[in-house]
Amino acid sequence: MKLSERDGWIWLDGEWLRWRDATVHLGTHTLHYGLGCFEGIRCYAGADGAAIFRLDEHLARLEGSARLLGIEIPFSRAALHEACVEAMRRNGLTEGYLRPLVFLGDERLGMDPAGLSVRVGVMAMPWGRYLGADALTHGVRVKVSTWARQHPNAYPCRAKAIGGYTTAILAAREARADGYDEAVLLDTEGFVAEGPGENVFIVRGGEILEPEVTVALDGITRRTLHALAADLGYPVRAARLTRDDLVLADELFFCGTAVEVTPIVEVDRRRVGDGTPGPITRALQSRYFACVKGEVPAHADWLTPIR
Ligand code: PMP
Repeated sequence: MKLSERDGWIWLDGEWLRWRDATVHLGTHTLHYGLGCFEGIRCYAGADGAAIFRLDEHLARLEGSARLLGIEIPFSRAALHEACVEAMRRNGLTEGYLRPLVFLGDERLGMDPAGLSVRVGVMAMPWGRYLGADALTHGVRVKVSTWARQHPNAYPCRAKAIGGYTTAILAAREARADGYDEAVLLDTEGFVAEGPGENVFIVRGGEILEPEVTVALDGITRRTLHALAADLGYPVRAARLTRDDLVLADELFFCGTAVEVTPIVEVDRRRVGDGTPGPITRALQSRYFACVKGEVPAHADWLTPIR
């Protein structure tokens, strides 16, 4: 079923619209030029009820993205927070995905967006396992992409900006067409950046390494894993990593709101470690799921209950 053919409620510009009525005009500026930003946020049902994971961190990043793009969001953090919580409730969801979206209106086209209306929507929907049902347990196979993550002077890499996903989609599509599950993009200098919609971590000799966040998105799952690695006693260090580091890793994994913590078991047709998800990856993954389901009291402040 198309997204537009579902039923439910969508929050758009401060009002609740029937799901099928939340449409935009062909003249919408962002449809033409891609200037806008968004978030992807998950909500999980746990033993003590349903809760949105790290909602305010996601909304803070949305504000940062808008600032980098020179867009002023015409709603407060509190209003967007309430819209996200209410979007889950109104649509009767206890688990799912929230998509706040900031885009420019249809007053006119052209490269000067001054004075265009800034529109904001929040959509809530069910969302399964991003890379398939088996990905979390068996891991995924990745291809180092021929596409590079954008140079920071060509694109505001810290923004979760709509236009940047053109490159991400080209990389993901290339990887799938070549028989892989997902891509890993290098930066324009050849160092490991991230996946199309995921940050990447390497485990080597008991240490957890990640690319310096110069061009990768500053992922909220990534920051969550810093805390969980500390809980479990594993040091995390940022380094300049090459494609060789991916192949020579003991363990490798993706993380992100959509992929959660997904092991990577093969890079460019070479097995990573013994070709199965490694113990540190599995330990982090299981603590991550315990946290999102409200089973780790020390991190209960990451959760926003919705009922
Ligand atoms: N990198 C990119 C390009 C992404 O789109 C995402 C998903 N938002 C991530 C990394 C992971 O970020 P997060 O953990 O905040 O979802």
